[in-house]
This record gives sequence, structure tokens and C-alpha cells, in this order.
Amino acid sequence: MPPRTTRAIVQTAPRQLELRELPVPEIDADSALLRIEACGICGSDVEQYTGTLPVRFPVIPGHEPLGIIECIGDRAARRWGVDVGDRVAVETLIPCGYCRACIEGRYQVCRGRGGMFAYAYVSLSHPPGLWGAYADYMYLDPHSILHKVRRDLPASLAVMFNPLGAGFRWAVELPRTGPGDTVLVLGPGQRGLASVIAARAAGADRIIVTGLARDAQKLQMAQVFGADHVIDVDSEDARARVLEYTAGRGADVVVEVSSYATEPVAEALYYAATGARVVLAGVKGFTPVPGFVSDLIVAKELTVVGAFGVTSRGYEAAIRLIESGHVPLARMHTHDFPLEEAERAIQMLAGEVPGESSIHSCLLPDVGR
Ligand SMILES: [Zn+2]
Ligand SMILES: [Zn+2]
Repeated sequence: MPPRTTRAIVQTAPRQLELRELPVPEIDADSALLRIEACGICGSDVEQYTGTLPVRFPVIPGHEPLGIIECIGDRAARRWGVDVGDRVAVETLIPCGYCRACIEGRYQVCRGRGGMFAYAYVSLSHPPGLWGAYADYMYLDPHSILHKVRRDLPASLAVMFNPLGAGFRWAVELPRTGPGDTVLVLGPGQRGLASVIAARAAGADRIIVTGLARDAQKLQMAQVFGADHVIDVDSEDARARVLEYTAGRGADVVVEVSSYATEPVAEALYYAATGARVVLAGVKGFTPVPGFVSDLIVAKELTVVGAFGVTSRGYEAAIRLIESGHVPLARMHTHDFPLEEAERAIQMLAGEVPGESSIHSCLLPDVGR
């Protein structure tokens, strides 16, 4: 029997979270109920918490769900190829399947269901309400995209499918990274480290990562995951270093994953080799980029690509890599939090907790129960 109620963290306004007990909806033939094992936390959680992202409150945050199918409708089980007891990773976006973006194969930017229809972004007032993974249970809409994951891995490791999926899409799939390529990653946060891991898995020849002086620990981690060189842009001449590490050519692939800093976007064009692919994935709060010299794109014939979210191919690659056990991913995972400490988890990722810093962290609803 499915539970009658679930605990859930509800966000009612910027920086306002409360723990509530909510009714669990009936599951019909096309939907399912997920028991949350873990929910990953990333920069988007911070933006949602502070109110930087436009979200209709009240809302249950948590857009990186990993869980076990608690109950499922017949048609849903056939369509998804999963059953009660299976562990699944859930994609954030819930595409409509019919709009122009969906039909053209760009479902990650689907707006066909009114705005961005995705876990953690749909209001609690939209039935059946349980649209976020900061909870014990979450509703699975018929249009959800699920990926089966082996059950014998720790949940805090399996839930890395999300940042790692981003690494595969942003650092490999979009810029078509392969053997012989020099990949430069700007920003050593969880997405930057995931980019290093993915580029290494794709056979990149050389990987360079930039960061700030305060990122020393993360830059060290980048080397654990296969970066050949790291650059502290606060104390080093980054343009000169990149040329030095690339025999004067510049990088074949530049992946910009820093959050809010605009300088790396302008600098990326200087680091890029002739004909390079530049992927922009770090959001900047819609502020203009000072010092952006578009002639560098013209003169070097650069390909500049925007990356919004992750698609199934990236998630699949990430899950296979996690299951392979080939990469010491656990070293990137720094913190587990019980549901009650959601706020602290977000604040820690945001760097608002003095003396503590997290790289990859997640909520584990079962911890502390
Ligand atoms: Zn995320
Ligand atoms: Zn659509």
C-alpha cells in the first residue's frame, strides 16, 4: 500500500522553506509514485532558494531525483519499461512531446506546457502537487523521462547522474570532443569537475582547468579526475599559461561553467584555438559581458554554442560511467544532508556557511529518520 502522506520541503517565498506533511495522490494507469532515495543539489537550487530564478510559489524544490518506484500504473510500467522496486534517475524536464522544440529534438527547452515544466519548477498548487524531490515521495508525470540505475550503488553516488550528465553533454557531446583535443574548462565547481571526467572518458588529449585562488581544493580535485594542468587566474597570467600548455595554439574546446562571473566568457575567446568550439553553460543572471570582443569569433572562426540542461544521451553516458566504477567519483561527494537540513545544504553550496564548503552534496530523506 502506498503511504497516505509524505514529508516535503515547501518553499513559500525567497529564502523561506518549511517542512510539511502533504497528501500522496492516487496513481492512475499512466503515472507513478517515486520513493526518493537522494536528491542532488546544484547551483540552480541556490538560485531557486534566493529567488533569482522565476518560480511560482509555493513549490517543492529538488530537480535531481533518484528513487525507487513505489507504485506504478500498468501503461506507465510498459511505456517506461520499469516496475515496482526499480531504481530510476529522473530527468528534470517534463517535455510535452508535441511542440516545435520537442519535435525538432530539443526537448530540454520545451515550453509547450506553459513556461518551463520541470521537477521543482511546477507549483504545489498544480495538481497533484508533488513536483519536487525535497520529499519522501514524488509524483511521476506520464511525460517524465526515466533511466534505470543499478540498485547496489550508494544513493549519494548514483545521484551524480545529473552533474555528470551535464559534463557529458557540455564537454563532449556539444563540442564533439574526442582524441587529440585539448579541452579547457573554466570553473572547477561540480559541473566543471564533471566536464573533466567526461572529457577524460571521451579520450581528450589534454585537459586544463581554471579557477580562483579560493578554489584551490577544487582545482586539486580536478587533477584527481584527470586534469593535466590547473590555472589559478588570481595569481597567474591565464592567457599565457593556456598558450604555454597548448604549444601556442590555444584550446580546441573551451567549456565555460563558472557561475555569475562574466570575465571567463570574454576570456574564453582568447583561450580558444583557431576553429575551436566554445560551449557556454554558466549562467550570468542576464547581465552583459564587458570586454566581449566578437571579432575574435570571426577571426578564429570559432563555433560558440549555448548549453541549457542535459539530454538523455548525456544522462545515459553518466549512468554507465557511474556503474562502471572506473572513476573515484565518491571523492567529489562531500556532504549528505537529511531532509530537515535542506536549507543548510543550499547555504553551504552557496558558500554562506563559514568554514564549510561543499562540492557535490545531496539530500537523503532516509538519513535521520
Ligand atoms: Zn541541478
Ligand atoms: Zn514540447
